[in-house]
Amino acid sequence: MEEHLLINGQMVLGEGAVRHIVNPASEETIVVVREASVEQVEQAIQAARNAFDATSWKTDKEERVRLLLALAQKLELQCEEIAILESKNTGKPFREAKIDVEDSVNCLKYYADLIERQKKESLEQWDGSTSVVQNVPYGVVALIVPWNFPLLLGIWKLAPALAAGNTIVFKPSELTPLTMIKLAELTRECGFPAGVFNLVPGDGPSVGQTLVTSGAVDKVSFTGGTVTGRLIHEHCAKSFKRVSLELGGKSPMLVFSDVPLDEAVEWALFGSFFNQGEVCVASSRILVEETIYQTFVEKLVARARTIKLGDPLKEETEMGPLISKVHLEKVESYIEIGEKEGARRQYGGERIGQEGYFVTPVIFTDVTPEMTIVQEEIFGPFSVIQSFNGEEEAIKLANGTKYALAAGILSNDLDRANRVAERIQAGTIWINSYHTPFVNAPWGGFKQSGIGRELGPQGLASYSEPKHVNVTKKLGQLGWYSM
Ligand code: NDP
Repeated sequence: MEEHLLINGQMVLGEGAVRHIVNPASEETIVVVREASVEQVEQAIQAARNAFDATSWKTDKEERVRLLLALAQKLELQCEEIAILESKNTGKPFREAKIDVEDSVNCLKYYADLIERQKKESLEQWDGSTSVVQNVPYGVVALIVPWNFPLLLGIWKLAPALAAGNTIVFKPSELTPLTMIKLAELTRECGFPAGVFNLVPGDGPSVGQTLVTSGAVDKVSFTGGTVTGRLIHEHCAKSFKRVSLELGGKSPMLVFSDVPLDEAVEWALFGSFFNQGEVCVASSRILVEETIYQTFVEKLVARARTIKLGDPLKEETEMGPLISKVHLEKVESYIEIGEKEGARRQYGGERIGQEGYFVTPVIFTDVTPEMTIVQEEIFGPFSVIQSFNGEEEAIKLANGTKYALAAGILSNDLDRANRVAERIQAGTIWINSYHTPFVNAPWGGFKQSGIGRELGPQGLASYSEPKHVNVTKKLGQLGWYSM
């Protein structure tokens, strides 16, 4: 058994549950991880507390910039190796895992650069005083992420959290801790001060819950499902603990009839099935203008049949397995629900191969807005296609769920696309593309898709609080407000 926890600068052996980390393509154990016990989570929080309270981490911006850049460089040098590890642990195609690592490097560099340029704001006031506004870190931040982008979603949190001067305790998904364990080792090689970054692999109910309920944690930043998000929000509300929530989605892609059909089909497939559809912003509802609906469905199904499922490490593979057997069964259960409610499965849902959690991408039509498969996040390769007649109906359908994370609009009439975008509720809207996150632009959701934003300056702001100090140079007489 190896040391997989990072507490106070040391890699240590876990004292909690023993977990086999499984390759979802082969069902073989990659490594056995001994997870953190509740006592070790408390030690990690204490280490982060001490590092925040008693070291210069929060004030030494130069050191933070230097270390974030050093970490980016290490990741860059080991990009292939880390991408292979991510691909093995999650089942995502290697070429996509490689993009995750590259995006992680960019994110670290972006936040290093952003804080380097950050200055205190100074405001001259009407009474001759000066107001200095400064962003100060919260203190100890707990970061909790899911299994679909273990490294990248982790970096989206830890880069701005550390850049802002916080110290952190990080909990990866119990299913996918491997790239974060690797990252923890890299932070040691870079010389991060002890306690600044702590890693506690383990499950939600023990490790996650301990972090969320700890009185020594100042902020929780969570990415995951809406049900877990609500629970965490409730816990944090008790002590007004700061919280950011990046939750689920049921994102629409609107296809207007003025676009070239073959290209639109490619974007719809990519929107729906990239990363096996295990993406919070997956375009799991395709809304197609009535006049092209029938042809679009035929083309989409024909093209979906050609998607290459297989070994994620092979260059030609377009779709890997789902993350686990439990998740595969969950996705399959929605096929049953969809059919029971009267929708029509046009394609997909067949298991592939003797081992691994492979399933062909699922496409449903003949759905109505209130159906379960139209309303609930399935978080797998599962898309429903609906038709619309005119902009009004498209907007109504697009806004018709409790989620509002992202949307896509395919139309070469940019006036129309922008007009529609204005009325769609979503944190991110792509016009004539899909999926690309831009490190300098905010990411997050309206409605039940979350609270707060990651990435961009907003991402940095979510790890600090503004502090206003008003300075009058010399004590004078009490003025107009004398009592
Ligand atoms: P979960 O909500 O089940 O889990 C997310 C993380 O929370 C995991 O690390 C999990 O631990 C942990 N957790 C579970 N219970 C608790 C608890 N009581 N206290 C603290 N932590 C807990 O989501 P999934 O892992 O199934 O991920 C899929 C979800 O993530 C989807 O809904 C998806 O939309 C969302 N997501 C949102 C994104 C966004 O940017 N908005 C991006 C990516 C995903 P463990 O699993 O180890 O037990």
